[in-house]
Amino acid sequence: MAGLLRDTGIDERQKDFVHTIETSGDALLGIINDVLDYSKIEAGRIELENAPFNVRQCVENVLDLFATKATQKNLELLARMEAGVPPVIIGDITRLRQVIVNLVGNALKFTAKGEVVISIGSTPIGDGGSHEITFAIRDTGIGIPVDRRDRLFQPFSQVDSSTTRKYGGSGLGLAISRRLAEAMGGRMWVESEDGRGSSFNFTIQAQAQPAAETPRWKEASAAFERVTVLVVDDNAGARAWLAEHLVGWGARVVAKASGREALEFLSGADRCDVALIDRQMAEIDGIELAARVRAIRSRDPLPLILLNSLSDGAARPEFAAQVNKPLKPDRLFSAIDRLFGGQTHSTAPFGALKDRAAALPASSLRVLLVEDNLVNQRVAMMLLAKLGVRPRLVNNGVEALAAYAEQPYDLILMDMEMPVMDGCEATRQIRARDDGKRTWIVALTANAMNSDRRRAFDSGMNDFVSKPIKLSDLESAFKRAAENTEAEVAPVVSADAA
Ligand code: ADP
Repeated sequence: MAGLLRDTGIDERQKDFVHTIETSGDALLGIINDVLDYSKIEAGRIELENAPFNVRQCVENVLDLFATKATQKNLELLARMEAGVPPVIIGDITRLRQVIVNLVGNALKFTAKGEVVISIGSTPIGDGGSHEITFAIRDTGIGIPVDRRDRLFQPFSQVDSSTTRKYGGSGLGLAISRRLAEAMGGRMWVESEDGRGSSFNFTIQAQAQPAAETPRWKEASAAFERVTVLVVDDNAGARAWLAEHLVGWGARVVAKASGREALEFLSGADRCDVALIDRQMAEIDGIELAARVRAIRSRDPLPLILLNSLSDGAARPEFAAQVNKPLKPDRLFSAIDRLFGGQTHSTAPFGALKDRAAALPASSLRVLLVEDNLVNQRVAMMLLAKLGVRPRLVNNGVEALAAYAEQPYDLILMDMEMPVMDGCEATRQIRARDDGKRTWIVALTANAMNSDRRRAFDSGMNDFVSKPIKLSDLESAFKRAAENTEAEVAPVVSADAA
């Protein structure tokens, strides 16, 4: 409702008040969720699931969730997985993710400069396939004074009371996280240097399960033999991450910390075959660096790959490929592999999601989400993020029409019941204006009743997803859109799309 109020033509001061109501409401919701969770744990009411899941995927979900936040604060967000960590373990992915989300969220919150790195290691326990898996979330933030460290894991405690005012939060997150780690057979502790950063560490015990398939990049120990890669990134952690993976694939790596150093190197006699260029760098940014490299190497063009954290979806012909940050091994591998003519694209490293991505260049899609309910908005946004889609979000049919008038969309996800103007009416009006373009419109509706479906189709919608939205349903809807709108969805070559 606050969101609706904001758009009723009120003045700036009033908008400011409404914004406060909104963020306070959100903060309150966060606290209520924490309190409920904590009481559930205290009451001994948490039941952990025991199902196989992919550890890397769990961690990469978290990276995706915080990608925007990290970019906004210009922080490097990285995950490093040691060799020997079982790819698939049996446990509760939701609870593990919750703990990692909480720690990474804190790390980003309390860090103004530098990086947040998730490291994962493991040691076998006995011979029965059981492992102790260690997660460390290290940041370069404000750190925690020695005398405060123990208290942090107590419920409702924060380092000092001014924290609440500056950063918000309930002081329950760490208490919940520690209890969850304990419930998963592990423990949680913190190491910190005041003023220089913290490392929140925890372990869990889990049974390893043989993986169905090994990602291609894991086996590719000599794939890029004789390839020299120039890495240009101003963050030391990112350079180390890139070097570690590239060397693991047999490449030779030259790492430079700025555009200036890179240009110096390229003007010299040493050769390289491809350059990986970070976009967000001080002084000379990635885009500008590309232009300057082009000028130096106009006769003998060097293939450039953009490490993109801003993902504005713009086509960038000066780059042979784009790899989105946070960095993930499979993205990086496919981008380079494609350049050097790798032929084994068909083995999708990560199964179903990858298959879908191959069908549709998701990150290049312009998607409009029309949904009035805050909770549903959140769910949809998070699910879409998992599919690599960053939609524009509007609250009702009228706003949807305004957004549609501004720019065309490839796909519109349209709630049926909305205040101001409902989805069917908005669709009818879009159809009246869309002069043959036939934007693909998918209805979102709470009840999967046939009459609703008919109403949606009658108004001109193309497809139907019922709420609560499930990732798999959303995925299928995108697949159907790709199959039916091929001519209009121009594939953009980006590493994520491959
Ligand atoms: P919340 O973040 O909701 O206040 P938490 O239990 O997650 O509650 O954290 C408790 C307190 O611990 C925070 O308020 C903050 O003072 C401190 N803290 C947690 N993580 C970090 C970190 N990475 N760096 C510095 N301080 C931290």
